Amino acid sequence: APAGKGNFIHQEIDKDLGEGKNGGAVLTRFPPEPNGYLHIGHAKSICLNFGLAEKYNGGCNLRFDDTNPAKEEVEYVDSIKKDVRWLGFEWEGEEHYASDYFDQLFEWAVKLIKAGKAYVDDQAADEIAAQKGTPTRPGVESTFRDRSAEENLDLFMRMKNGEFKEGERVLRAKIDMASANMHMRDPIMYRVIHKEHHRTGDKWCIYPMYDFTHGQSDFIEGITHSICTLEFEVHRPLYNWFLEQILEGEPEPERKPRQIEFARLNINYTVMSKRRLLELVQKGIVSGWDDPRMPTISGLRRRGYTPESVRAFAERVGVAKRDNIIDVALLEHCVREDLNKRAPRVNAVIDPVKLVLTNYPEDQVEWMEAINNPEDESQGSRKIPFTRELYIERNDFMEEPPKKFFRLGPGREVRLKNGYIIQCEDFKKNENGEVEEIYCTYDPQTRSGSDTSGKKVKGTLHWVSATHSIPAEVRQYDRLFMDEDPAGHKEKDFKEFLNPESLKVLTKCRVEPSLKDAKELDSFQFQRLGYFCVDPDSTEDHLVFNRTVQLRDTWAK
Ligand code: ATP
Ligand code: MG
Ligand code: MG
Repeated sequence: APAGKGNFIHQEIDKDLGEGKNGGAVLTRFPPEPNGYLHIGHAKSICLNFGLAEKYNGGCNLRFDDTNPAKEEVEYVDSIKKDVRWLGFEWEGEEHYASDYFDQLFEWAVKLIKAGKAYVDDQAADEIAAQKGTPTRPGVESTFRDRSAEENLDLFMRMKNGEFKEGERVLRAKIDMASANMHMRDPIMYRVIHKEHHRTGDKWCIYPMYDFTHGQSDFIEGITHSICTLEFEVHRPLYNWFLEQILEGEPEPERKPRQIEFARLNINYTVMSKRRLLELVQKGIVSGWDDPRMPTISGLRRRGYTPESVRAFAERVGVAKRDNIIDVALLEHCVREDLNKRAPRVNAVIDPVKLVLTNYPEDQVEWMEAINNPEDESQGSRKIPFTRELYIERNDFMEEPPKKFFRLGPGREVRLKNGYIIQCEDFKKNENGEVEEIYCTYDPQTRSGSDTSGKKVKGTLHWVSATHSIPAEVRQYDRLFMDEDPAGHKEKDFKEFLNPESLKVLTKCRVEPSLKDAKELDSFQFQRLGYFCVDPDSTEDHLVFNRTVQLRDTWAK
């Protein structure tokens, strides 16, 4: 879209406003089915719908599309509300439930029956499906299609009263079995489900289908723009048809909802359908819906993503009319960009090896000044303890380093950040041949901030004091799947592409003492390692950090 014109949805809304539609109101809705936790695709939809409300000074409803009691649970309702609020949005008034409209929907179904626009079909689902035809071949009309309104009404009441088993009767709209649009070939409006509903209990044993629920719910709430994903484009004629039928004989309403479709968000190296995510949870492949490897909003939150970073991602992705796949590196880029401004820099050594400064006094502690965030002066500085015994990263030392290795090795010099330049004199190995201790001398002339030595070294290492640092566990996450499109293989199950190394737990980490008071979900940049946040599994004396993302940006701008 040309600059300043906004995306195509903005253009459509501008046009409607220009034509004075809906009395100038803009009311959108986010309509999740409470059958799972929300994922990053839903976050896109949330940002879009609530974003339109903000832009047009309108509102956005939260509506639970709870018409299938077999799959829906209160746990999901609660998680959805939490996730929407976490993203920073607040819906208009109370949340809505499609189940609140069951009485009204039932009345409208009766209206259609009386008008000869709906009939009860005794056939089973597979028979009905077999009669649907193909896009190029018309369907077959059901032998029950021409029942009288009286008979249909009687049967529909008996469906409602529980006289039929699941699958024995359905209510269908009587439209056109030869329509070029398959969705117009007498779609099912109601089916029998003998299940308790999480809100209506056992009041109903017939439940309306999505197509007979969604547009009418939009209408009841006064939604003006019903934004949904592209697969519903082919449902739009049906959406409008049902609205026409229920409005038949009524005065022209002030508001009539209009469905507009956009391309759903897809991201590589993950799966994004609730059904598959539920399978990962139920089979224990992940620790739960909020496992930090999950593309769920709760997973991203636990991983250390900020609401701002998710919103920035949704903005960057934009609104498309064609399906496409977004590189997960863009999502990582967005959180990196946000945490770079936000997260204090701290020192953590995740795979420690001891380093002893042989010429440093035994009981001396120097409290070195360290800037909290070079990107944000207002975050100030803190003091970190420098002592004779330190820990550095095991991979920052090599016994026989190649030329280009600018870290530590026998005889080599490096700077310890916010400390001194040190030189490696010797090292000791344990019985397994692993380096156990590294012995260095420090040069007192080289203290950071007041270096008078004129020495130049190529490598700067992070470190923590062996005596003052605190233990921590670090969970390093990698992609959950090794394949770009794990669910896109016809012959193979998506679980065959799981990355066996998606989680690596490091239990012997040491972090600087300032982290003692870190709180759940606080984010930090562990210098040279990446961004990490405090996992809710942390306790008073056992800190657990999740790696949100590494420092290296792989996003190609
Ligand atoms: P899933 O297939 O993952 O279960 P769904 O569409 O069935 O998703 P709903 O709870 O019905 O899940 O979705 C609520 C809203 O979020 C709908 O308006 C839907 O269009 C939107 N939505 C779902 N997935 C995506 C996605 N990947 N990108 C953009 N919007 C999405
Ligand atoms: Mg849905
Ligand atoms: Mg679904």
